[in-house]
Amino acid sequence: MLGLMQSQPLLISGLIDFAERHHGDAEIVSRRVEGDIHRYTYKDSATRARKVAGALDGLKLGFGDRVATLAWNGYRHLELYYGVSGSGRVLHTINPRLHPDQITWIANHAEDQVLCFDLSFLPLVQAVHARCSTIKHYVAMCDEDKLPKDSGVPRLISYEAWIGAQSDSYTWPVFDENTASSMCYTSGTTGNPKAALYSHRSSTLHAYAAALPDVMCISARDAILPVVPMFHVNAWGIPYSAALTGAKLVFPGPAMDGKSIYELMEAEKVTYAAGVPTVWQMLLIHLSANGLKFSTLRRTVIGGSACPPAMIKAFNDDYGVEVLHAWGMTEMSPLGTLCTLKNKHDALPEEEKMKIRLKQGRAIYGVDMKIVDEAGKELPWDGKTFGDLYVKGPWIIREYFKGEGGDPLVDGWFPTGDVGTIDADGYLQITDRSKDVIKSGGEWISSIDVENIAVAHPSVAMAACIGIAHPKWDERPIVAVVKKPGMEVSRDELLKFYEGKTAKWQIPDDVVFVDAIPLGATGKILKTKLREILKDYKLPVS
Ligand code: AMP
Repeated sequence: MLGLMQSQPLLISGLIDFAERHHGDAEIVSRRVEGDIHRYTYKDSATRARKVAGALDGLKLGFGDRVATLAWNGYRHLELYYGVSGSGRVLHTINPRLHPDQITWIANHAEDQVLCFDLSFLPLVQAVHARCSTIKHYVAMCDEDKLPKDSGVPRLISYEAWIGAQSDSYTWPVFDENTASSMCYTSGTTGNPKAALYSHRSSTLHAYAAALPDVMCISARDAILPVVPMFHVNAWGIPYSAALTGAKLVFPGPAMDGKSIYELMEAEKVTYAAGVPTVWQMLLIHLSANGLKFSTLRRTVIGGSACPPAMIKAFNDDYGVEVLHAWGMTEMSPLGTLCTLKNKHDALPEEEKMKIRLKQGRAIYGVDMKIVDEAGKELPWDGKTFGDLYVKGPWIIREYFKGEGGDPLVDGWFPTGDVGTIDADGYLQITDRSKDVIKSGGEWISSIDVENIAVAHPSVAMAACIGIAHPKWDERPIVAVVKKPGMEVSRDELLKFYEGKTAKWQIPDDVVFVDAIPLGATGKILKTKLREILKDYKLPVS
C-alpha cells in the first residue's frame, strides 16, 4: 500500500523560493572583486536568479546543458547557483586555481556551453578560450561599463546587461528530482580529473542534513561566512543550507587574507564561518599578531584536511570559538561526518573532550560508513583498528560523469581512499589518505599525527610529513616545516618536542625546513609535489 502524502520533487528552486517567501529581507553581503561591499536580500537574489534562468532561455540553452563558472564567493555566483540549476541546466563550478590545461580539459569534458567568470579570471579565460571547443557564450560577471574592451574573448557580454534585459516573472519548471543540478571535478591527483554529478534530490537532502544541530547547526539567527569556495563542492552546500534556513550570508569575494576576513566578520556580525585549516591559519596569525578578538563569531566548521589540535585549541581557548571538525569529499557532496560531543561527554575533563574534538566526528544521518581490511572484511569499531573507509548514502556518487574510471563501487559501497578508525561511539578518526600512510617496520604511522605535533610548536606555521624509503624499516617519516615569520626553531629542538607526545618509533627521523609547502587547488598539501621536491633527500645515517 502506498502512502497518501503529496509527492513533490525536491528541487533546488524550492530552496530559493522558500528563502524569498519566508526570509525575504534576510541579507546577503558580498565583498566584490572591485573591493567594495555589496548588500541585498534573499528577495533580490531570488528575483535576479529568475532573470538568470530567463537569460539562459534567451541563449537557447537546452535542459541539462552545462553552464560553467570561474568565480569567487559572491552574490552573482549565488544567483547562478539558483538560476542555472533551477531552470534545469547543470551548474559546473570550475576551480580557478587549476592549471589552464586542466581547466581546458574539464570544460571540454563537461561540454560547457556558457562560461560566466569574475573579472579577476579574465587572463585565465583569455588563455583557455581558443581551446574550449564547446563554449558558445562568455559572460563577464560585471556591470556593462566594466566590460573589458578588446579582450580577445569571443562573444563576450556583461552579466548585468545579460540579465538586466530579462523579466523577473519566470516560473521555475517542475521536473524529476533525480535530474542533475551541478557538477564538480575532483582534484585529480592521479590521472585526469573525474566529475561528481549532483542531483536536485541529493543536493536538497544534503542541505537539510547539513543544517541539523549536530551537523553545521545553521539557523535564521546565524550570519554565515563561507570561506570555503563556491567553486569547490558547492562551498560544502552552505549556499543551499543558508536559503533553507534563512541565515544571513556573508561572501568574502577574492579577499581571503586574515585581515580582510577578520574585518568582514566584525563588520557583518558573523556568528559562523566555514573554512579549510590553511585559510584559518592566516586568520589566527593576523589575530595574534594584532591582539584582536572576535566579538560575534561563535562557531566554525573546519574540514578539507585534518584540523591540527593546536588550531582547535587556539580557537577554543584564546577566542571562545567552538570548532566543528568535519570530514567529507567531492564525491560525497561533501559532508560525511562532523564532530560534536554527546551528552555523556559533558562530565569528562577538558583534555578528554579535546581528544574527541580532534576526531573527524560521527556520521550524519544519510551517510553509512564502515572500515574494512585488505580483503574487504569489516573491522571493529574500537577506536584502534584502522582500515579503508567505505561509505554509502543518497548524496554519495554512484558513478562518475560519463562513466569515467568504470564502476567505483564495491558491493554498493564507495571506497573513499581514506584510512581511519571508528570508535565504539561511532566517531571516525582519519589516519591518512591510503597512499600517504607511512609503513614503518610493519606498523603504520599516521602522517596527520606527525604534522599535528609539529604545528603545535609555537614557531611552526605549517608542516607536511612524508615517508622516505629505508633499507631496514621500509619507510621512515620526515617532516617538512615552514617557520612562522620571525620565529626560530632548530631541527633538534623540534625533534625533542615530539618526545612524550607520540611513541618513539613514530617520531620523524628528520626535519627539513622549507620556505613553502606545495598546496593543491583546494588548499590541501600536495604530497606528490613535496616528494618530487625532496627526491634527492637522503635520510640521516643513524
Ligand atoms: P576533496 O574531494 O578535494 O574535497 O578531498 C577529499 C579528501 O580530503 C578526503 O578524502 C580526505 O582525504 C581529505 N579530508 C577532508 N576532510 C578532512 C579532515 N577533516 N581530516 C582529514 N582529511 C580530510
